[in-house]
Amino acid sequence: MPASSVTYASLPAEKALADHSILNDFYGLLPREPRRTPMRELVSTVLSHRTTHDDEELAYTRMLETFGDWAAVEAAPTSELAHAIRTTRWPDTQAPRIQEILRRIKAEAGDYTLDFLADWPTDKALAWLTDMPGIGLKTASLVLLFNFRKPLLPVDTHVHRVAQRVGIIGPKVSVEKAHQVLLALLPPDAEALFNFHKHNYWLGQHICFFAKPNCPACPLKGFCNYYLEHYGPADAAALSATPAKWEGKKQH
Ligand code: SF4
Repeated sequence: MPASSVTYASLPAEKALADHSILNDFYGLLPREPRRTPMRELVSTVLSHRTTHDDEELAYTRMLETFGDWAAVEAAPTSELAHAIRTTRWPDTQAPRIQEILRRIKAEAGDYTLDFLADWPTDKALAWLTDMPGIGLKTASLVLLFNFRKPLLPVDTHVHRVAQRVGIIGPKVSVEKAHQVLLALLPPDAEALFNFHKHNYWLGQHICFFAKPNCPACPLKGFCNYYLEHYGPADAAALSATPAKWEGKKQH
């Protein structure tokens, strides 16, 4: 959808679909293959809480290099596991959580695998995952969407900030609440939700920065509340100045 044709988007549902359509063009549709195994996605996402991607990767690698496999991670002295994952923000909190998560997975599946979730209804899988320590709606939704193509939308701080500034969700809608609100506005399709999540996450990283959003470079300016408030209505010159495609690096 050309940017100039979406200046009419004013209702939240219209804005959600316009955002989705424009960012599909801006970033391109993503491949369907999961980036990681379900176990790796789950544990890495727990480790990633308030932690950089490089530090999360280092913690994950050190953990498995130190203990060898999931059974040994679960059985390890908790203080030793905390030391192995010391590059995460709160290793003393995350270590016992990871061991409890592994214990519950083994008890449910008889092994360290989440493959059984593929056959579970979405609501049951979501409830089971979010009952575990340290696993909230974002992490559970992410694993179920990325690895099992369940129709859920993970909302992190970037997705939440973009959706609020654009006006897809209201200023008082929390990150937790935004999971349901945004999901109700988008097509109930895993591919669409996956692309919406990744694209808005990237927009938050690349353009819609927390402190100083780079609105002149943003393809959503035509219907964004924040843009309207700070720059006035986006005119034809402003819209045509927006790059058609993101040419920079895309992170994980
Ligand atoms: S126009 Fe500005 S505030 Fe709105 S989404 Fe783009 S970068 Fe964020």
